[in-house]
Amino acid sequence: MLSSPNKPYVGRIAPSPTGYLHLGHAQTFRIAHQRARAAGGRLVFRMEDLDEPRCRPEFAAAAIEDLKWFGLDWDEGPDIGGPHAPYLQSQRLSCYRTFLDRLIRADLVYPCTCSRKEIQASVSAPNEGDEEPVYPGNCRHRSAKDVPTTGRFNWRFRVRDSETIPFVDGNLGPQSFTAGKDFGDFVVWRHDGIPSYQLAVVTDDILMGITEVVRGADLLLSTARQLLLYQGLGSTAPEFYHCELVRDSQGLRLAKRHESHSLRTLRRRGNGTEPSNELNPEDNF
Ligand code: GLU
Repeated sequence: MLSSPNKPYVGRIAPSPTGYLHLGHAQTFRIAHQRARAAGGRLVFRMEDLDEPRCRPEFAAAAIEDLKWFGLDWDEGPDIGGPHAPYLQSQRLSCYRTFLDRLIRADLVYPCTCSRKEIQASVSAPNEGDEEPVYPGNCRHRSAKDVPTTGRFNWRFRVRDSETIPFVDGNLGPQSFTAGKDFGDFVVWRHDGIPSYQLAVVTDDILMGITEVVRGADLLLSTARQLLLYQGLGSTAPEFYHCELVRDSQGLRLAKRHESHSLRTLRRRGNGTEPSNELNPEDNF
């Protein structure tokens, strides 16, 4: 499942515009940038803006502005275009639907009528502390052809209980997770026509030819789920490099709600140019 060492390096940075980026993002994206440049490769900027109520165009514009201020550049992205456009996930729904249809044809997913809070949450990358509970399997008996004729349903990926999913992380070394124990059947498509984070990110990483995924260590468990999706879709998985999370003095992971650690705040403190007060997203895309 590892990518060929001869393939030219393609990395990505993939912020979710749900708030201003903070030092933790800056650190992860700087490592992603360095690894792409050191390998003489390309870097793709992808805006992960599927979580409609939480994502805001002004945060998307700010992410681009702040990361440029931080000294990063990229070879493809929403501000400069490129061969894999569009770079906003909200404009790529047909790609995700195509990949869902493949999973349906292979009977790897089933319609789930359970209404649970995690279905709402599935569209965002699970950060530390907000992993969903293992799904108890109420709708597991259904096949992909058992589509309910009425009512709402979500598509869920069926894991094989007790299957171990090992992988070697480029930074954190050998990892191993067990399906049915560390995570259960997971949502890939919501009843309202929105793909889950897991399906969207795998679809994009495949279509954008990503060879190494650099991201925060809170997504290690998501990598296990994503490896199952790569397998189910018959695609080669990229390499993975998970970065240690940046923590505050109390040992808590930095989060977008912590204004004081945001790149915006650092800029305002006189460490660079003054950020625009009124960002117009049209200027950037
Ligand atoms: N958009 C996700 C986040 O900001 C990162 C997803 C990924 O790198 O796979 O948490």
